[in-house]
Amino acid sequence: MSGEDKTAAHPSSMHELLRAIPKVDEFLGWVEQIKAPVRFIKAAVREVLAAEREIILGGQSRRPEDLGRDVLLAKFSARLKDKLTPNFRTVINGTGVIIHTNLGRSLLPPEAMQGLVKVGSRYSNLEFDLTTGKRGSRYALVEDLLCELTGAEAGLVVNNNAAAVLLALDTLAKGREVIVSRGQLVEIGGSFRIPEVMEKSGAYLREVGATNRTHLRDYEGAITEQTSLLLKVHTSNYRIIGFTSEVGLPELVELGRRHGLPVMEDLGSGSLVDLSRFGLEKEPTVPEVVKAGVDVVTCSGDKLLGGPQAGLILGTREIIGRIKKNPLNRALRIDKFTLAGLEAILRLYCDEEKALSAIPTLAMMGMAPEVIGRRAARLVRRIGKALAGRCGVAVVAAASRVGGGAMPEQDLPSRAVALRPVIMKVTDLEKKLREASTPVIGRIENEAYLLDMRTVADDEVPALADVLFEVFEVANR
Ligand SMILES: *Cc1c(COP(=O)(O)O)cnc(C)c1O
Repeated sequence: MSGEDKTAAHPSSMHELLRAIPKVDEFLGWVEQIKAPVRFIKAAVREVLAAEREIILGGQSRRPEDLGRDVLLAKFSARLKDKLTPNFRTVINGTGVIIHTNLGRSLLPPEAMQGLVKVGSRYSNLEFDLTTGKRGSRYALVEDLLCELTGAEAGLVVNNNAAAVLLALDTLAKGREVIVSRGQLVEIGGSFRIPEVMEKSGAYLREVGATNRTHLRDYEGAITEQTSLLLKVHTSNYRIIGFTSEVGLPELVELGRRHGLPVMEDLGSGSLVDLSRFGLEKEPTVPEVVKAGVDVVTCSGDKLLGGPQAGLILGTREIIGRIKKNPLNRALRIDKFTLAGLEAILRLYCDEEKALSAIPTLAMMGMAPEVIGRRAARLVRRIGKALAGRCGVAVVAAASRVGGGAMPEQDLPSRAVALRPVIMKVTDLEKKLREASTPVIGRIENEAYLLDMRTVADDEVPALADVLFEVFEVANR
């Protein structure tokens, strides 16, 4: 071992160990040849030394050789590498969850990416009317497309669906009551809860019915002078089964009409195409909800729509006009990249067949298991031999999920590559893949690590194989 101890004596006292920690300047001398920003080098050195000090002061057993030069340099290199690695990175999604909120939800097709790149590097007519030469509205850039595709009279787009709901409630119901079924008080991903959004908007929640059953008479009985809105919320991520009943949108719309009250639906995912073609249960599409006569409907841009993060608000000209004028709108507004991406996505929807093949979220939903199986077989061909003896590799049947809170109980039949490691525990494999140069995220099922190939793109297969070689320390393929 080349690290020389300064304190050779054993057992070392805490004091001796502390003295054996090199000084910052000495350490910097060891690494002065390394090419990296000085601030990262200094920070890494300080962190390594502080960590050693802490361990010693914490009384954990430490031998002088733990403070050897090579040992410390290895720790330094790991920390420096960490600092030089971007925090925001791409990962390979082997979970089979298509709209994975933690992994970035929907992927944009090249058509949309080109739009983003263009407006990012050039000036644009973001808020400039090229016909009149006067100030324009950023919402106008997508409003006609939204109306065309959904049948709504008017529409606008904000930061996300949570913002859309907040803005709509703030505009329509501040200081007054909103009637909602007890079965629809959803929480999405921990931070969006209907009762809390309602409170923030200054509207008062008037819950009606029971968790499993709400009737039209419950809504009707709760209507008072104070009522401003009837709200229906899509129970995106859960399902109430058994003895249940919900009031349909047409009945709610009719009730609203009779009492002169607007009706709003938070559709959550919001699809523009009928998803039953993918073997999934029929869900009302945005155009169907608009057609049912709802006054306002909100949905996400990056769930089933397959676009960038955004919140779509569609409705009557009168109500959308009021929402546009709400000063809160300015704080929730959509940025130019999102608008560029969204416009490109909406243009793809103008030809439904094109949308189904070009928009990754929809294309992934539509993939046949046999096609996914061929992709899985390609990975197995690349890695099978090289991993022999280290890991069992096989193509197995699996079930993908739509994700994004949509259709929580429905499976899409898929194919996965199952890895059964021999030289390490399956939990260690999961961790190593997650921490690899290109992080890979899969799932453990029945002691096997599964990579559902539905959400792994064809052009990611070689990179995925390389990560597996890296993790199993196979020199080359
Ligand atoms: C997902 C969802 C939201 C939140 O939408 P974001 O775009 O994530 O802000 C709100 N309501 C429902 C019913 C949802 O499913």
